[in-house]
Amino acid sequence: MTMDVIVVGAGIGGLCLAQGLRQAGITVDVYEKDPGITARFQGYRIGIDAGGEAALRACLPERWHDLLDGTMGDLSGARSVLDPRLNLIDEWPPAQGSAADRHVLRHLLLAGLGERLHTGKRLTGYRNRPDGTVEALFADGTTATGDLLVGADGINSAVRGLLDPELTPTDTGVRFVIGRTPLSDRFARLVPGFGTQIVDGEVNLALGLMRFRRPETASEAAAHGIALPPIADYVRWVMLLPPDHPGDAAGAQETVLSRIEGWHADVRALIARADKDNTTSLAIRVVHPVRRRPPGPVTLLGDAVHATSPSGGNGANTALRDADLLRRNLTDVVQGRRELRDAIDDYETQMTEYGAAAVRYSVAALEKFLPAGRRGPTRPEAATASISAAAVNNTGNRRPRCDETAT
Ligand SMILES: Cc1cc2nc3c(=O)[nH]c(=O)nc-3n(C[C@H](O)[C@H](O)[C@H](O)COP(=O)(O)OP(=O)(O)OC[C@H]3O[C@@H](n4cnc5c(N)ncnc54)[C@H](O)[C@@H]3O)c2cc1C
Repeated sequence: MTMDVIVVGAGIGGLCLAQGLRQAGITVDVYEKDPGITARFQGYRIGIDAGGEAALRACLPERWHDLLDGTMGDLSGARSVLDPRLNLIDEWPPAQGSAADRHVLRHLLLAGLGERLHTGKRLTGYRNRPDGTVEALFADGTTATGDLLVGADGINSAVRGLLDPELTPTDTGVRFVIGRTPLSDRFARLVPGFGTQIVDGEVNLALGLMRFRRPETASEAAAHGIALPPIADYVRWVMLLPPDHPGDAAGAQETVLSRIEGWHADVRALIARADKDNTTSLAIRVVHPVRRRPPGPVTLLGDAVHATSPSGGNGANTALRDADLLRRNLTDVVQGRRELRDAIDDYETQMTEYGAAAVRYSVAALEKFLPAGRRGPTRPEAATASISAAAVNNTGNRRPRCDETAT
């Protein structure tokens, strides 16, 4: 049988799904509200685990696997904890993994979509049609019809708002400043292993490298007609701000500098030389997924349904897992092995379970980064409550507190 799928949101999850569906011969159109893929702050490094990488490879055509490889970086070695003068005070066991730049990865995931990517299309509604199909409505008055609509539209998901208006993000109360600085030998020395944390009482600055395996991948990609943004190595740095800190996107860099007065000159220079376009302050909010029954022609994927705290390093990995699972289930449908409703039901059952676990893990991990006096119980659900400034009612996570977005 044939199938038309509407994907709302051209983030990592939505694009990965689109690639996977194309490979299965399913017609897929991606609708993105931004006027382009470079519209605003996009560029941070994400750690990709083995599961996330496997999902990416399963969804991307094999001929682009080598490009994927070249655009990623290696994370390995011990994780150092330093004092502000850069003396070693602790070391976490060595770890191994891969890193990707979200902006570069998105461009690779756009490869071949061509006119199937529709930018400047903000979804504002949808209608279930009597024949079982669904009609998406966009802010510019246009519509699109498909057999399935997938809301991959991030933590502020409009699709989730229509499908389950009760399910809204919980603000943990914690803010963080994230930025990046072009890599130099001086700054590379700050991150000799998997990552570095510099700690001074309440203040914690985490550093990580984005060193692309093959900088020449951009020209290799161009030969395949794939336009990647400039590939240049950088140090990604993140500072968590305690729940009572106001945060301020405009003065994000200054906020960090004011908290590291007297620190080693290399660390201060790292922050002072940050790329301002990719430095911002964000709220940490999470969405705990809730199982929905019965399944219909509209479903959710990624942060739209299970937004994690960046402290878990698992949001993108979980979105990629969703994309791969949904791809497999929908492939079964077009190949006549199962019904669409059954495929969605199975996807939602599995996704809700591992998505909820991912959110709990990320919230528990957030505690690890908070100063000792501000930590709460280590049980994940309790941890949400202990760090949250949000009013939480008896459904656990129903009241939004903040309009900031994590993307
Ligand atoms: C600083 C930071 C560091 C992180 N580090 C890691 C990490 O190391 N490892 C990891 O696994 N995860 C990490 N994450 C989490 C990860 O980035 C997210 O979980 C992941 O990007 C979610 O992908 P997504 O496709 O679900 O949503 P998004 O990437 O948020 O994409 C949603 C898309 O939908 C579009 N959209 C929104 N509303 C509409 C609408 N109404 N109509 C049309 N389009 C719409 C948006 O413009 C956007 O393009 C990190 C996140 C942050 C902020």
